[in-house]
Order: sequence, then structure tokens, then C-alpha cells
Amino acid sequence: MPGEFELIGRYFERQARQAVLGVGDDAALVRVSADCDLAISTDMLLEGRHFLPGAEPRALGHKTLAVNLSDMAAMGARPRWATLAIALPSDDEAWLGAFTQGLFALADREGVELIGGDTTRGPLTLALTIFGEVARGKALLRSGARPGDDIWVSGELGGGALGLAYLQGRVSLAPDDAREACKRLDEPEARVALGERLIGIAHSAIDVSDGFAADLGHILERSKVGASVRYDALPRPAAFARVRRADLERRCVLAGGDDYELVFTAAREDRAQVAALGGELDLRLSCVGAIEPGSAGLRVLDLEGHPVECPAGFDHFRRGA
Ligand code: ADP
Ligand code: MG
Repeated sequence: MPGEFELIGRYFERQARQAVLGVGDDAALVRVSADCDLAISTDMLLEGRHFLPGAEPRALGHKTLAVNLSDMAAMGARPRWATLAIALPSDDEAWLGAFTQGLFALADREGVELIGGDTTRGPLTLALTIFGEVARGKALLRSGARPGDDIWVSGELGGGALGLAYLQGRVSLAPDDAREACKRLDEPEARVALGERLIGIAHSAIDVSDGFAADLGHILERSKVGASVRYDALPRPAAFARVRRADLERRCVLAGGDDYELVFTAAREDRAQVAALGGELDLRLSCVGAIEPGSAGLRVLDLEGHPVECPAGFDHFRRGA
């Protein structure tokens, strides 16, 4: 059975004729002026698929925008405008009040203006399109990784998946750990400032929405390179050390969706510059491995250099997803 990305490649991906960049990256790019490219991306959240039925509407408003901001961050673009297509089961005004409160709080903080959309009755569906600006020809692409590059990860991986496992009763957590993991799942923070600052430093970037290994895999595929990553170097919430479930931890850290951190590559010579940027933004940036020549794909290694099994990332048409 074809997966999500085979379906997109087979049926929707066509040669870009008027766009600078079409299907296949975190956002498309169109040239709108002599010095500016417009980055455009759409992401959709469906009840029962992307969030649990009855999810808190204010957090949902935040997340609807945050997942799109994350694609702007992955391009190094400054988010500016958004349109929102929404299907609602009923005219529940209390729900709408809370949802828009969450949406506009984040929009105002990030300087994004809602400029249009569409509203209809139907199963709860939230589809937002975001438009951002990036200096002409400077956007961060998935295709720019070079052999010898360091691989970096912002923040921590696996927190969103840990939150979901907790809500589904698959793991028990101490109250503080549960709060943190659920916050991570429900109200992710897109790394917009980091993305903008990586222009001119990073060679490639992607945001982690489907799982670290799968998303780094997109960089490898588009850049036609391989990579080796040190499993122990992957940053993760301290809660995992208390839970002590190696298998769950591996699945969350390597294949958990919903983290919305950035994975990017940069020249080894720029290591100090990247580290300094992390200090400036007060954001943990971890160097977790290196890009290698060839098409061997991703190797994740433990402390002894043995391969760590890599669970598949999220795919809407695979693994009974
Ligand atoms: P992301 O996780 O960064 O949002 P996706 O994995 O959802 O990206 O999509 C991969 C690529 O395929 C993106 O460039 C996206 O714009 C494109 N894409 C997905 N679905 C469609 C579609 N139905 N028509 C055209 N392009 C699509
Ligand atoms: Mg993305």
C-alpha cells in the first residue's frame, strides 16, 4: 500500500512552473518582489486524528496556528498572514470564543494577521494556510544538507508523544511530568525566531511533525545524503529517566510526532556560532550527529556504536495510522 508521501508524490507533485519551489518542502516559495520570497504552507487538524475528541478549544486554537508557524520556522520565514478554513459540528459560541482566544493570542504574539478563510458545518476540521516572508533565495530547504554537516536539534524530542501515551493510558507519569508532556502535546511552541536566525548559517532544515527519524529522512532524501546520529545525544524530557521504559522512550524520541522542534544541518566550522545562537535565544540546541555522503539513509547508533532500531514515523496511510 502506498504511504502518504508516495500518494503526494504520485498524484499531487508536479514540476513547479511559476513557483520558486513547489510540493515537497515545509512550504512552497513564490517570488513576489525583487528582494522577497513568499513562503506558503497549509496544515490541517482533524478531530479524532490529530487531536482527541473533546480537546480544550483554547489550546486547539493555539495549536492550529502553531503547527503552521512551525513550517515557517523550518523555512526561516517570518510568518505574516493566515487564512483559516474551519468545519464545525454546531454553532457553539463558547467553543468558538475559546478557540479564537487561543488562536489570536499566538497570532498577536507572532505578528500574524488572519485575513480570510471559510466556515462550514461538518466534522470538526481546522485547516490553516500561512504566508510568510523570507529574503529572496535565502529560505532554508530540505535539500541543502552537505556531507560533513553537523545535525542539530532544538529543544527536546518525544515530549508530545509522551503526552499522548499518557492521555491514552499507556504510561503513568508524576503530576509535573504529565502536565509538561500534555502542554507539549496541546500547546507546542514553534521555533520561529530560531528559523529566522538560521538563515545564512543552516544548510538545510525541517520541523519535526512526524517524528525525528522520518523528518530527518526527508532531509536525507531531498539532499541525497546519509546520516549517522548518536541516540544518546538526542535531547529528551527528563520524565523519560523517571519512567524507565526504554522501548517507549525510543519510540517517542525517534518516531514521536507533534514535537515541532527544528532539525537542521550546518557546517562543522559553524558549531560555535550555532551554540552561541542557542545561548542568545535561551533555547537548547543539541548537536546529535553528522551528514554523510551516499544514499545509505539514517543510522542511529548507541554508545557502543551498535545500531539502534528505528521505529517508523507517522504516516496517515501506514501502520493502521
Ligand atoms: P509538513 O509536515 O511539513 O506540513 P507534509 O508532510 O504535510 O509537510 O507534506 C509534504 C509536502 O507535500 C509539502 O510540500 C506539502 O505542501 C505537500 N502536499 C501535501 N498534500 C498535498 C496536496 N494534497 N496537494 C499538494 N501538495 C501537497
Ligand atoms: Mg514541516
